[in-house]
Order: sequence, then structure tokens, then C-alpha cells
Amino acid sequence: MQVFKSVWQHYTPTPEIRWLLEQFRQMLNDCIRIGLAENVTSLKSLSLKAYGQLGRYDVASYYKLCAISAATGIMRNYRKAKRKNPHVREPYARRQRLTTCYGFKVRDGELSLPIHAKEHVQISLNQHVQATINGFAHRSLILTKDRLSLAYAIEVRQLQPRGFIGIDRNLDNVTVAATDGTVQQHDLSEATRIRAMYRDVGSHFRRNDVRIRHEISSKYGQKQQDKVKQILHHASKLIVEEAKARQYGIAMEKLVGIRRLYRRGNWQGRWYRGRMNSWSYAELQRQIEYKAKWEGLPVIYVHPYGTSSKCSICGRRMKPEENRMLRCPSCGYTVDRDVNAAKNILAAGTLRFGVVGLTSEVMVAEPARVQQSAKSMRGS
Ligand SMILES: [Zn+2]
Repeated sequence: MQVFKSVWQHYTPTPEIRWLLEQFRQMLNDCIRIGLAENVTSLKSLSLKAYGQLGRYDVASYYKLCAISAATGIMRNYRKAKRKNPHVREPYARRQRLTTCYGFKVRDGELSLPIHAKEHVQISLNQHVQATINGFAHRSLILTKDRLSLAYAIEVRQLQPRGFIGIDRNLDNVTVAATDGTVQQHDLSEATRIRAMYRDVGSHFRRNDVRIRHEISSKYGQKQQDKVKQILHHASKLIVEEAKARQYGIAMEKLVGIRRLYRRGNWQGRWYRGRMNSWSYAELQRQIEYKAKWEGLPVIYVHPYGTSSKCSICGRRMKPEENRMLRCPSCGYTVDRDVNAAKNILAAGTLRFGVVGLTSEVMVAEPARVQQSAKSMRGS
């Protein structure tokens, strides 16, 4: 199984790179415009419609293909968003962001990047980036006006898990329940606080000049986002290390849109709902997934239905009590709601994977389905 990781650094663009970034942004917008006008979203049909029209750009031809491919992704997201909200704004690339899988090379600590067909520029890579990618095949490059990010790939052998951990993410923590019965919580309230602060600052820019506001808030936003990412990296690292030590696979909830997040927060009022941030929720999952895959640990996603409301012992509907506790009227189990959710995710994940050697607790979570999967396992 191939696994991807990426590493980034700051850099100072030369005039040639600045020019290339701007050309790429314009090509991307041309492709988006053509895609919208012709109503195409597939890579093949957009290539047919757009490639000829990119002839006026004097850049290496890889970039034309990459612009078309990036536009395809943007168009696909736009279509999806439009189905949910017909008033969504048409996509337009404002920021300079170049993505490519072709043309560039890394040699002797330098990134060599083609500008025109036979003209290259060099960017020196810092020690950290050099050490990180050393020995790996690099696969893609993302350039913005001050950062470069390299993705690299390795071959990983997937391990047969001895059990699972179920991960439940909440506003202020992430709760991890494992097959061996242990439960761990990681505090994420700092991340929530930073995001909330950023929202406040963002809302104070209500000047006439939209461009200034955009510039300031995006610069500030990038810094905040980096801080939150660091906090999430710390938590995801610990979680995956623990899972690796016990050779456990990882089960998480499939994110089904923003509504899910609203529902989760529905006991906390509007203000909290505003703070619950879908970006950081998805970012944590992304980090856990790639770190786990890197270690060969299987990652599975389970449907979130009922994970926060049903009893993780008998499957009946729980009643909320004080201090975020839940009580099951049927079997009397009283448990913290986050722990209960993590256990439900663990049970669902374990069932999906069909691992032998389930704990008794997991076995009783949903008797009918456990028996069914046990039968099918014996049959095979
Ligand atoms: Zn119960």
C-alpha cells in the first residue's frame, strides 16, 4: 500500500517564480471559466475544451495540464456545493497557488523548477525538508507566494490489527476507547479557544476596502491555523503512537457534512455551535488517518448514526443527566457521553472489520449483528 506524507518550508520567490504563480492563477481561472461555460467537470472533457485555449501562456506545458486538473477538482466541489445551496458563489482563484506533479526535480538540496520549456529556476531546501524527504520518491509540489510543500510516498505493509480504538471528537476534547477496555481523553480546548479568538478578530474588520480586510484576516488566519494544527498534531501523534504500541486499528466517524457538527453541539447553544469548527474536526481526522496509514494501521470510518445517543452496552436510547453524563434506562449503565460515543464507534468499527477476539463489552453492543458477523466468519 502506498502512503503519502508532506513537508513544507518558507521560501522567497524570485521574479520568475512570481510570474509563474500569476500565470498559473490566470490559467486556473481560464479553465474554471471554460468549465462553467461549457458545463464540464470531467478531466478529459475539460482538457479537450481548455488545453487549446491555454496556448497563449508561455509556460512549460506541464503547468497547463496541472491547471486543468486543479480546475477539475474545483469544479467538482462547486457542483457538489451547488446541489446543497443554489446561491453558492462561482469559484474564482484569488490566491496564487501552484500544484504540480511533473517537471520539478530535487537534487543536492535544491528544488529545480521549470518555468518555460527549457528554463529552470532553483529554490534551496532547508535542512528539515532535505532530511525529511531523503530517500523517498517525491510526488507533488505545492507553491504559494511564500511556502513550498513537497509530498512524498513510501510503500507500507498493512498490519493485521489485534483490536481497535474508537475515536470520538468533541468541541473541547478527543476521546479514545480501546478494545482492551481503556479510555483516554486529550484536551483540545486550547484549539477551540484560538479558533474562537480568530473569529472575533475577523469580524472586527468591517472596513470599506474588502481587499485590505481579506489580506489582514488571511495573514492572521494562517497563523492561527498553524497554531491549531500544532495542537492537533500533538494529539494525533499520541493517539497513533498508542495504537501502534498495541497494534490496534483505528475507527472514526464518517463526517456527513456540517449538519452533523451542529447536531452534536445541540445541547450547547448557538454560541458554541459557532465555535465548533468543521475545519479542525476534519483536520484531526486527516492527521490521524495519514499517521496511522504510515504505520500500517488500518483506518475505518463508521456511520455516525446513534453513536452519541445509544447505550454502548445494550444499544437502547440513553437519557441525558447532569455533567455530560448519560444513563441507560434499560440496563442502568451510566457513562460520560464522550466515552459512550467513543465506545459505540469502537464497537461499530470492530464489527465492520470483523476481527476475531472481540471483548465481551463489544460483543454485547449489538447482539444481532455480532452473531451474524460471527456466523459469516465461521462460514468463510
Ligand atoms: Zn443499556
